[in-house]
Amino acid sequence: MEIFTDICDFRLYIKQVRQYNKSIGFVPTMGALHQGHLELVKKSIQQNDVTVCSIFVNPTQFNNPNDLENYPRDNKTDLSLLKANNCDVVFLPSNAIMYKKNDILSLNFGYLENIMEGKFRPGHFKGVGLIVIKLFNLACPNRAYFGTKDLQQLTIVKKLTKELLYDIEIIPVQTIREPDGLAMSSRNRLLSKEERIQALDLYKALNTAKKQLIGGESVTSVLKYVQQFFTTESKLELEYFEIVNTTDLMKINEIPTSKQVSLCIAGQLGKVRLIDNMSLL
Ligand code: AMP
Repeated sequence: MEIFTDICDFRLYIKQVRQYNKSIGFVPTMGALHQGHLELVKKSIQQNDVTVCSIFVNPTQFNNPNDLENYPRDNKTDLSLLKANNCDVVFLPSNAIMYKKNDILSLNFGYLENIMEGKFRPGHFKGVGLIVIKLFNLACPNRAYFGTKDLQQLTIVKKLTKELLYDIEIIPVQTIREPDGLAMSSRNRLLSKEERIQALDLYKALNTAKKQLIGGESVTSVLKYVQQFFTTESKLELEYFEIVNTTDLMKINEIPTSKQVSLCIAGQLGKVRLIDNMSLL
């Protein structure tokens, strides 16, 4: 497995891969890898000649300095996991390489950066967009892999890929869950034993809400049920629960026949913020 920390070396390597007409699959991550990340890597290995994974805790996407400071980092374990899972290349840049003091570019994703995650994490998607563009420009992938766990991020990445005319296929990968249903997340390792049990409320609420909608209950009553569940039965502080159109993430009032609907949820447990979503299909 090749490991690059320097931009010039990485570019040169990518240039050579492309000269040989080999396809590149790219998996951007912030490290503290788990089975969910490895699923993205697995998919990329199946579909491409060369799989590149990046590990970079991107400072510009953290609106909360404590969250950035506490974000789990474990490069040594990450590298051995990637090696054991047959990843070909890892790009592991420093902050100084990815950002310069006089950088001025700022992106705007319109309504998409002001709803759900964007509402609770101002500026988050501007940072996500910037780093994704920088990494796309360096890795020059044919395909890039993103988890549906971060549905809003996936939507924004699809949008920027289309609008900036990147010739990159964005491949969504289903959320990998723990055996009890909790969506895998790097932040899960920050949960105490007690919080780990309480975290399951996100999954429980999504599951129940989904069943209710499939059973014909109205959007309004399901929204009410979930709000009430978190007020009366859970220690988790609910930030939002929304029922949206899966393609544009706009709120819906009625379930369309296509059932292209996603239930999106986020909440805070102590110092840890968790998100999850479920598709109605
Ligand atoms: P992160 O390191 O949290 O920035 O995540 C890197 C990529 O892995 C993103 O595309 C995430 O959506 C994806 N990812 C994170 N958790 C999961 C999961 N449980 N299942 C599938 N993909 C995931």
